[in-house]
Amino acid sequence: MSILAPYAAQPETSRGRRYAESAPQFRSEYQRDRDRIVHSRAFRRLEYKTQVFVNHEGDLFRTRLTHSLEVAQLGRTIARSLNLNEDLTEAITLAHDLGHTPFGHAGQDGLNQCMKNYGGFEHNLQSLRVVDDLEEKYLDFNGLNLTFETREGILKHCAVAKAKQLGDVAARFLNGEQPGLEAQVANLSDEVAYNNHDIDDGLRAGLITLEQLREQTLFNAHYSMVEALAPKAPGKRLIYETVRRMINAQVTNLIETSQAQLQAMKPKSIEQVRLSEEPLITFSALMYEQHLELKRFLHAHLYRHYRVHRMANKAKTIITHLFEAFMQDTHLLPPQACQHLAQWQAQMGQESGTARVVADYIAGMTDRYAISEHERLFNATTLA
Ligand code: MG
Repeated sequence: MSILAPYAAQPETSRGRRYAESAPQFRSEYQRDRDRIVHSRAFRRLEYKTQVFVNHEGDLFRTRLTHSLEVAQLGRTIARSLNLNEDLTEAITLAHDLGHTPFGHAGQDGLNQCMKNYGGFEHNLQSLRVVDDLEEKYLDFNGLNLTFETREGILKHCAVAKAKQLGDVAARFLNGEQPGLEAQVANLSDEVAYNNHDIDDGLRAGLITLEQLREQTLFNAHYSMVEALAPKAPGKRLIYETVRRMINAQVTNLIETSQAQLQAMKPKSIEQVRLSEEPLITFSALMYEQHLELKRFLHAHLYRHYRVHRMANKAKTIITHLFEAFMQDTHLLPPQACQHLAQWQAQMGQESGTARVVADYIAGMTDRYAISEHERLFNATTLA
């Protein structure tokens, strides 16, 4: 790894772990975080969770796992170019979606509605809950006992009421501070990854068309260049080449804009970064506008496409049925899901504690597990 910039996260100035541990012998503290994340149960489940397209719809679509790998790859390039901590960036990017429910955003919306009287459900908070509480692998603590910087990066958003309960890791949402630069890189890498891969997946699924995309400034600029270079190339190649050039343009713009900002501001430490009023990792104004244009396009034409919406509607029904059934009778929960029921009931109150345990169980499910659990509970002919 290249020499870290003074504003990078450094293990020596880390705010540390919740439970003290001896320093790793051959790895940095952030490599250890990354390794713990990769070995977690929640990470393996990402393989069978939806990004936009439900897992069984086709083998070529992104899943939460391949999405997370793409985010990590972009994040590492950006971090290394800016002399930031690549290990920390990798840890945050690989963990950022650990708390996602089955069935993508539809699953989250469904579970959030079910939880509205019990503190709600939000995947960022759940990702933090997974690494802080729900993984059970170590003798001395629950969770993965990650460093403050990784946890700070995982908690991308947080409502004020929740921030008050969460303590130091959420303090920035009360103080108007920023997270470290590695967390800022992870956040924008996520956006670049999904904007571009959703174009690719959306075209492959036939839900959006080349004609629609050619009305988008960034896509059209690159598509026109590629088409001029190779007018006879097969359509799929032109699209791949266009998407690859779009990613390159966005990442290059992000690195150059952020580099200029960092050179102007010269923060001397991660603590100074945290005190800045605005994020320091950004696109240029023009690229940001083109990025938003794509995002708006995907919202209107892909995420709200009637075929995606039908699947989303089914997903919400499955989640709601499961939630209601478990709330009515916790004896329907398998033993591994309710072994800490009494503890959460004591901590949060009878009903809220029960709801949280049910939400944890449902959020942990993969798409296919949720579908078969629904089948087992509601199909009278399935007795197993
Ligand atoms: Mg993501």
